[in-house]
Amino acid sequence: MTQAANSESHAAAPKQAMPSVIAQQAATLDRLPFSDTADFDDASRGFLGTLENAAITNAQGRVVWSLEAYGFLTEEKAPATVNPSLWRQSRLNMHHGLFEVVPGVYQVRGLDIANMTLIEGERGVIVVDTLTSIEGARAAMELYFQHRGRRPVTAVVFTHTHTDHWGGAHGVLDGETLARGEVPIVAPNLFMEYAVSENIIAGPAMLRRAQYQFGPFLAKGPRGQVDCGLGKSMAAGSVKLLRPSDLIMETGDKRVIDGVEFEFQMAPNSEAPAEMHFFVPRYRLLNLAENCTHNFHNLLPFRGADVRDALAWSKYLGEALQMWGGKADAMCGQHHWPVWGKQRIDTMIRQQRDLYKFAHDQTIRLMNHGLTATEIAETIKLPTSLEGAWHARGYYGHIRHNVKAIYQKYLGWYDANPVHLDPLPPVESGKKYVEYMGGAAAILERAAKDFANGEFRFVAQALSHLVFADPDNQAARALLADTFEQLGYAAESATWRNAYLFGAQELRQGMPKTPARPPMPRETLAALRTGQLWDVLGVRLNGPKAEGKHIVLNWSFTDTAENFVLTLENCALTYVEAAQASAADATFTLTRSTLDELIAKQASFPEAVAAGKIKFTGKAMSLAELMGLMDEFPRMFEIVEPKRTAVT
Ligand SMILES: [Zn+2]
Repeated sequence: MTQAANSESHAAAPKQAMPSVIAQQAATLDRLPFSDTADFDDASRGFLGTLENAAITNAQGRVVWSLEAYGFLTEEKAPATVNPSLWRQSRLNMHHGLFEVVPGVYQVRGLDIANMTLIEGERGVIVVDTLTSIEGARAAMELYFQHRGRRPVTAVVFTHTHTDHWGGAHGVLDGETLARGEVPIVAPNLFMEYAVSENIIAGPAMLRRAQYQFGPFLAKGPRGQVDCGLGKSMAAGSVKLLRPSDLIMETGDKRVIDGVEFEFQMAPNSEAPAEMHFFVPRYRLLNLAENCTHNFHNLLPFRGADVRDALAWSKYLGEALQMWGGKADAMCGQHHWPVWGKQRIDTMIRQQRDLYKFAHDQTIRLMNHGLTATEIAETIKLPTSLEGAWHARGYYGHIRHNVKAIYQKYLGWYDANPVHLDPLPPVESGKKYVEYMGGAAAILERAAKDFANGEFRFVAQALSHLVFADPDNQAARALLADTFEQLGYAAESATWRNAYLFGAQELRQGMPKTPARPPMPRETLAALRTGQLWDVLGVRLNGPKAEGKHIVLNWSFTDTAENFVLTLENCALTYVEAAQASAADATFTLTRSTLDELIAKQASFPEAVAAGKIKFTGKAMSLAELMGLMDEFPRMFEIVEPKRTAVT
């Protein structure tokens, strides 16, 4: 028996592509303009140097980023188990290192999912976006210094609120520089509010769902993770939030930063709730942050987010064209590779503008004809002019799920058919479906036939009922896993592929074992407003446990001169700022940094009291009672099968 045949027979191993998938991949090769290879020239243009395999390690020697495992992507021809269009994008995203965009402007690409853009000024360098991790940012800066000479960082610009654009800030500016406070940190208005609300309040659910979006637990390979669409994968490493010092408020606002003029355009509620674009006249450089990249972006990523506004997104791109069309020699974004030449820049912005507008308008048109989200996804087809534009293809978002996001934005989760108003949840309905469909054996028999015929979408639906009815039915799990896998192999979108393949893996192997969630880092906590900390605490309150409880706590922070009343009643935790209750159960006087220490678990409450860091009057036990009502969120929870632990 050969090695391949041997692994094939192992139930938990990834399988080959089915004939229907192979035929679909061949059709994609015929349909799309693979002879247009301009993107490969652009992705390698201006290359100055790189790190071997783009490998980055932390102080303990642990690898936080490396492209070594993606070596299989040197093969030009896509294997049958990867959509050829996605294979092409995966190969483009392999370019890594330091690149010159125009003399004076550089980008570090492929050392993270996101890019760092470096703009040289009079005295030093302005760093636009700081990658996901401190380790990654440090490595990127070193690579830049190595090729361009060591010089001070004279400003940091955050284009938007997503972690891959600010997480590494402390690797760009050291503690001493930060303490001096002389380096401006420029960001769009409401940066802190959204960096927090998008990543922290719903963080536990989002992080688990993000595993399905990015596939970090999948082996990398032709039958595993190949890309994320936006870049290779999520970076590991240390992340710390840094508070901006200069907020850009309006379109048309200008700044002279280190002798270089920047013109800004606000783009709120586009790819991120707070985002901005800019033009640098000196370098004739346009940067559209993450709103004009080489894919159809996500209107609602699988990790979960506030749904994004496709109409606004399109308008910002139209406005950018109006403000700066014909002025730029180069356009770069904070993902993927730049585009050069006025004509090509204008074409790309116009096509991206129309991609979001088309998706928006046609979704609403079909919606107003009465089609539901799934029906719209089945009906809508991109116009030929956009179908053939590589940057418009759905490697990260996809027309078929972006239309559902647009539907959700306007009409919400309900399709107005009362059958969907109050359906039985998955386990209960699964049991009834299995009963109505004649039992497990009958379902499996039909599913196996349909699987062989390539009817993967319905086979997945039917078998999911069986797995929810009986998660220990190994045949059902195995066939559902095989089905997800074929759907993953066929998918053009990297996020679809990752979701399907990780679903298959969890059905075969169960959930990966992960270490417990570390407490929130001090620097991130310090960057949060106190009110935001109370909001984070509020969503941990276990409502049923709090039944009948009434607790009122006064808080007085000596360093920030803030006062709060925190009230638990009606199983809800609320706060009032700039107030103290006369009838509080207890009053605590402390510094905000002591509170941060407690939350970061660097000290316990009794230790802080003993050290004189907390003073209190009244019943201190009422705080312990309140904290006893708080849930700890699990890092992992079941997704493709029933919850093994009951949650109330
Ligand atoms: Zn990003």
